[in-house]
Amino acid sequence: MLTAVKPISRQENELNHWADHFETRSVEALLEWAVEHYAPQLVMTSNFGAEGVVLLDHLARVAPGTPVIYLSTGYQFAATDEVKERLQARYPLNLIEASAALSVAEQDAQHGPRLYERNSDLCCRMRKVEPLQNALRGQRAWLAALRRDQSPTRAHIKTVEWNERNQLVKLHPLAGWTRARVWDYIVKHDLPYNRLYDEGYTSIGCWPCTKRVAAGQHERSGRWDGQQKQECGIHL
Ligand code: SF4
Repeated sequence: MLTAVKPISRQENELNHWADHFETRSVEALLEWAVEHYAPQLVMTSNFGAEGVVLLDHLARVAPGTPVIYLSTGYQFAATDEVKERLQARYPLNLIEASAALSVAEQDAQHGPRLYERNSDLCCRMRKVEPLQNALRGQRAWLAALRRDQSPTRAHIKTVEWNERNQLVKLHPLAGWTRARVWDYIVKHDLPYNRLYDEGYTSIGCWPCTKRVAAGQHERSGRWDGQQKQECGIHL
């Protein structure tokens, strides 16, 4: 039986061309192209994980004034705030903190305490997905420090792609990097990093939904432990 094939738009064709092009180019080359094409409506998002620190270091050289959106969920580890402050001391960050409409106390009053245990999708939607959508409104391109080998949900990301939900171009300059390459870069350039990586954490999000990972387990397996969930939703 014949199945309908969605036609590829001209814009999609163009983005696929650039995705192929930047697959074999440097992170700086992609950033320079992004600045030329999309600035000043170009932003990066980061929760200051290892990959984010690497991308920030590149961005600070190429386009230091680029806004960096940080999702302040109210559930971040103290160690994440510490690394944010160390990065602010090292780079002239144009940081934008995006918060949920409800404080944690207001969310507890409306939805009951520890919503993350009962309905993590709703909690993520209110504290991450919606604040990010609001912060991205009016932007043309979004830089995110994802790697393909972080999880099956990220295995098919392109260096350049269209993001339907936010109606903008999404850029993944580190798409083809490995975890080892990220850490080699951090060590070589003596970059600040979240101290929780030295305490058995391999992926760091909100403290109620982040656990240490045993040796041999996948690096994102400590997120939403015991649930099917693998992503908060902002990168879906
Ligand atoms: S990661 Fe956990 S605490 Fe953070 S927004 Fe999602 S469900 Fe809530």
